[in-house]
Amino acid sequence: METLVQTTRFHADRRPDTPAVLCEGRSLSYGELHRESNRIAHAVRAAGLTEGDRVAYLGKESEHYYEILFGCAKSGTVLVPVNWRLTAPEVGHILQDSGTRLLFLEPEFAPIVDRMPTAPPGTVVPLGPDFAGWKAGHPDSDTEFDATAGTPVAQLYTSGTTGLPKGVVLAHRSFFAIRDALTGEGLDWIDWRHGDIALVGIPGFHIGGLWWATQNLNAGTTIVAMRAFTARRAVDLIRDLGITTACVVPAMLRMMLTEPGAGAQDFTTLRKAVYGGSPISESLLEESLAVLDCEFAQIYGLTETGNTAVCLPPADHVPGGPRMQAAGRPYPGVRAKVIDGTGRELPPGEIGEVCLHTPARMVEYWGLPDRTAETLVAGWIHTGDAGYVDEDGYVFIRDRIKDAILVAGENVYPAEIENVLEHHPGVTEAVIVGAPDERWGERVHAYVVPAAGEQPSPRDLHTFLVPRLAAFKLPSAYEFIDHVPRNPSGKILRRELRDRFWGGSARKVN
Ligand code: ATP
Repeated sequence: METLVQTTRFHADRRPDTPAVLCEGRSLSYGELHRESNRIAHAVRAAGLTEGDRVAYLGKESEHYYEILFGCAKSGTVLVPVNWRLTAPEVGHILQDSGTRLLFLEPEFAPIVDRMPTAPPGTVVPLGPDFAGWKAGHPDSDTEFDATAGTPVAQLYTSGTTGLPKGVVLAHRSFFAIRDALTGEGLDWIDWRHGDIALVGIPGFHIGGLWWATQNLNAGTTIVAMRAFTARRAVDLIRDLGITTACVVPAMLRMMLTEPGAGAQDFTTLRKAVYGGSPISESLLEESLAVLDCEFAQIYGLTETGNTAVCLPPADHVPGGPRMQAAGRPYPGVRAKVIDGTGRELPPGEIGEVCLHTPARMVEYWGLPDRTAETLVAGWIHTGDAGYVDEDGYVFIRDRIKDAILVAGENVYPAEIENVLEHHPGVTEAVIVGAPDERWGERVHAYVVPAAGEQPSPRDLHTFLVPRLAAFKLPSAYEFIDHVPRNPSGKILRRELRDRFWGGSARKVN
């Protein structure tokens, strides 16, 4: 298989009754997924859309989302999944920018479309009770359209933590290249198996969720779609449905482990936990290894690299071991290098910008040829992440380059300080940002979420850090907060915590 057009037909032939998607007590088999997506493909074409046209989805996770994904693939159109937490102007921007011609809309989000400053696209198909009727008028037979590995199939908008959201165009190959490489080399670190039930914790409008869901559907397992992630719901689903694999961001792992009443007894069926999407602190990883009796695999990548390009396999998850802070090593067929500001490749161990060469890379940023040319250079994706590669080829990520704090000419990476602070028993989470400083240019400011029932003093924290961090990395102030603001894909909204220090200054407004 090399395209999503083939996925449902392949499994409908072999396991038509196996559930493909479970959602809120409903079950959609592979046979149904194949037929319903065929109907959608015919309906989309009947609505006048042709190859390359954009189709948007504004709604939460559901079985319909996957019918529509495969329906788009089979009609040759490109799916634009929209984050339902966005505001009307933000949704309007994505629909306009992508040139969406047809919108699948969950009724719950109709008010957002009504408030959009620009008119909604040509056709709006509500996903309410009439959706079945809309599909029913169209045949469930295969369409004539056949894609190649290079045909665009999805356009995902980056969350905009580093600027205005950009539409990342991904072709079918982004959803096949890595698994094929792993299987070919007999190195299936994540190893999807028939009979697996996979929790999709990360939302499907994010590459992490979409990638995990499609890998499982390509492999013929059953996925469990969550309308919206809550730790309570995830723990209950794992226990009650006997979930065997899960893909989550570190913040979700933390929430599940600290969920009141949840414990090892809830996770006994889990055999593999895949995590990534943001840096994980060593203390959270060690705690996860202690509580969950399963294998762990870390993935690292970007929307632009078709998700994971690097993986830390289970064997490297050894508490106290040398690789516990690595993001992993490139898959077969993927290369990683580190460059300095002039583009010169750096030797092992030196920190610079991480670049990745992967067959799963994006086609382009939609409508932004200059940004594409800056990010995708001769097949290499310039990640914007600071990190290094060690002698053995393992990639270590420090943090985003734009999040680095420049203290008296020294680069300070927030994740490193957060990692150390989170080892303090009185700290649940920490976020580090840079604030302006007249003398040193910038200073380090720490936000701290205290552990339940604890109230460490700034002096306690300072005393804890002094033997562990160089003096220029030490926070000059500690501020206690209740929770860390994050986007739905678990990334810290550092800008929200940083902006108040920088006012209108351009220096730190990424
Ligand atoms: P934007 O680019 O606008 O900020 P975004 O946050 O949605 O949007 P993604 O493609 O989802 O962009 O995120 C990719 C980034 O996530 C990487 O560049 C890296 O900073 C971070 N990341 C992903 N996986 C890991 C990991 N395993 N360890 C550390 N960081 C990670």
